[in-house]
Amino acid sequence: MILEVTKYGNPILRQKGARIETVTPEVKHLIADMFETMYATKGIGLAAQQVGKAIQLTVLDLRGVEDRPSTLELDGKPADVENFMPLVLINPEIKPLNESVAGPEGCLSFPELYGDVVRPESIAVKALNEKGKPIEFRCGGLLARAVQHETDHLNGILFIDRMDRKSKNEIREELDMLQAETKAKLEAPRKK
Ligand code: ZN
Repeated sequence: MILEVTKYGNPILRQKGARIETVTPEVKHLIADMFETMYATKGIGLAAQQVGKAIQLTVLDLRGVEDRPSTLELDGKPADVENFMPLVLINPEIKPLNESVAGPEGCLSFPELYGDVVRPESIAVKALNEKGKPIEFRCGGLLARAVQHETDHLNGILFIDRMDRKSKNEIREELDMLQAETKAKLEAPRKK
């Protein structure tokens, strides 16, 4: 089922997600719906907060992205990024491995808004997969950027929080409008 993607201004995007102790049938169902929603909206990553659930769950799929390279290391050896997709991360923990670089980012909760965000170029990741099994990997490039963007969502952090001042100033008006629009929509049913 395609779910509604929460937009900037919805307070759930600021909520830290609860850790998932077991992958219940409900969680599995949500994972399937999140993939369906992400593919329908042409995203490469989606966090649970973006479908209205404050839990530590995100889905990613970078297949088909050709203009921005990614690297992956499994057990200390280079691995194929495409074969590693689609990717489910539960309770992800991240460690930066090298210096930070600026790169363009967008977000399904901020339609048509983009800006440069500075993040570590490569990271080490520990998480559970969709079966509840522990996984570990190192990644760089776009995959590292996407994993960090999604893990931030799980902690209530948004890409605008990390955006450089110039990029943020360029979209400030649109941000304020989006926030006001979302709040008005959320309040509308209560007035009936
Ligand atoms: Zn996002």
